[in-house]
Amino acid sequence: MAVPPLTTVPWNGHVGAASFTFDDAMENQVKNLTPILEEMPDVRVTFFLSNMGGNSLRQNGAGFAKLANMGNEIGNHTDNHLQLPDQDDAKLKSEITDFATEIEKVMAENGAEINITSHATPFCANNEKVSGEINQHHFINRDCGWHGRNDWDVEPEWLGMASRVWNSSETADTELLEALDTAAFIGDFSNANPWDVQVKGGSWLVLLNHGVSDEGGMSITPEAIKNAFQRALKNDLWVAPFSTVGAYHKAHFIMDKAEGTANDKEYKIRWEMPHPHMPKSIPLKVKLNEEFLKESGFTADDNIVIEQNNNEIQPDENGIYTIEFCNLSLTIKKSAGTSKLKSTISTKRKTDGNHSGIFDLNGKRLNTRNRPKNSTPTFLFP
Ligand SMILES: [Zn+2]
Repeated sequence: MAVPPLTTVPWNGHVGAASFTFDDAMENQVKNLTPILEEMPDVRVTFFLSNMGGNSLRQNGAGFAKLANMGNEIGNHTDNHLQLPDQDDAKLKSEITDFATEIEKVMAENGAEINITSHATPFCANNEKVSGEINQHHFINRDCGWHGRNDWDVEPEWLGMASRVWNSSETADTELLEALDTAAFIGDFSNANPWDVQVKGGSWLVLLNHGVSDEGGMSITPEAIKNAFQRALKNDLWVAPFSTVGAYHKAHFIMDKAEGTANDKEYKIRWEMPHPHMPKSIPLKVKLNEEFLKESGFTADDNIVIEQNNNEIQPDENGIYTIEFCNLSLTIKKSAGTSKLKSTISTKRKTDGNHSGIFDLNGKRLNTRNRPKNSTPTFLFP
């Protein structure tokens, strides 16, 4: 049995990831988040745009196009923000697929060339038919859920991703910060509800926000969201858009299984795009598997490079290569050059044999079907 040559570094080299998402194309998001994001280049977020039964997309198009050009993601939140499961096929197509194209057009008119790759269901109302339509133009969809965390080793339901909803209350700001701690696996969890604890280490937290203002209701204040961004960075979370983290996460399930074919001491790996509507570029940090190197006759003295498009990619000081997943192939080989790869290159994550699922504080697997009823908060949506 051949050993796959490469293992992807979790969460782009961070302890976990956080994707902040903002719904409903609100003017106060443009006004209040643009200056914060201009100050924080390591924080990039996602805006899910909708016309909200009116003209919100065009009204705020210029502001969102500017945010897109800063590296933030624009996603699709449907034309009229309806209950999607109640709509017929033609209406679903116009609300979801046609509107994705409309957003791309309006962004282009405002100077931002983008491809929509993600969707968020209004009211988090989803079913098989709705997901089928979303799948026509998006590789990933955000629903609600209750904790919004995703484990590295577990493939999530890509068209029904859970998210943690920010809900106005006295303790909401603190709870948001705590959620960013648990995603980074920081803190004392001894008294916590096991359901609210990520016991396996860093995870990907998807957060759902609405307005950003001092108006109350479902709006988070600019100060509180800035605090949350800062906490996420301090915790060494990868604070990146929903599609960016999602594509990295989805790509690793392909890359970590991809096997090479040997040809005269070169190993060629090819793979396929798992979905036609993923970002056009997916940089992936990978390491060579030690066992593969042994089996393949490479030694620690070899300067091993990964070649893509005739470019030799050298490892960094930790043995990490940054490859382009969208190239769909690479070659592992000895470099003609003489510089030596610093010893190897341990890649396997520590595993406890069978660690998928959610565990309690003693490492005992919890059955997700028997989640306690009172652990599911109810949410309101504007
Ligand atoms: Zn909405």
